[in-house]
Amino acid sequence: MTKPITLLVIMMSCCFSAAGKVHLHGQGQLFVSQENNDWHVAFILPAADVLGFEHSPASAEQKRVLQTLAKRLTTNDSVVNLRGKCTLSEATHSLLTEHDEDHESATGYEDEHEDGSDHGNHEGAHHEADDHERHEAHAKHTDVEVEYHFACASSAKTLSVTLFQWVPTLSRIQAQWITQVSQGSATLTPANPTLEW
Ligand SMILES: [Zn+2]
Repeated sequence: MTKPITLLVIMMSCCFSAAGKVHLHGQGQLFVSQENNDWHVAFILPAADVLGFEHSPASAEQKRVLQTLAKRLTTNDSVVNLRGKCTLSEATHSLLTEHDEDHESATGYEDEHEDGSDHGNHEGAHHEADDHERHEAHAKHTDVEVEYHFACASSAKTLSVTLFQWVPTLSRIQAQWITQVSQGSATLTPANPTLEW
């Protein structure tokens, strides 16, 4: 029983840390794993596809879009359907909602301050202008990560990605799974959104 779990850890650490390097618009990643009755389903999706932009929301409309998406991701229904006697036990995502804004930028996207300058030594007026320019110059790609935990009374055998139905630019998802009976990978598309193992 320890072997699948060890493999899982290797798989997850490999792929989650590499996520930033394989960012392609229209393409997402999916990881499915089983630990007894606990099933873990994780997506890495380009923000450009699920959100429509990859920066901190700049307008009231973009803030609204982000809030709507965050709410949508709190249940699995419009993202993924795990077939079996399963109930959703936990849902998490990487979007920061208005609730979090007091402490961090609104999207959870890392602001890049890697020029090594010591902010403490900046003169106040220059500091603010520099920051604005830096944000413009360092626009970058961003992924949205979504994770679901399910408790399943019976072993799930198939999974369907319902995301395709409302994210028209998402054309494929590279899926990997590891269960107690098998492991493998497949490419899911809008025409073929179901994984079987
Ligand atoms: Zn991008």
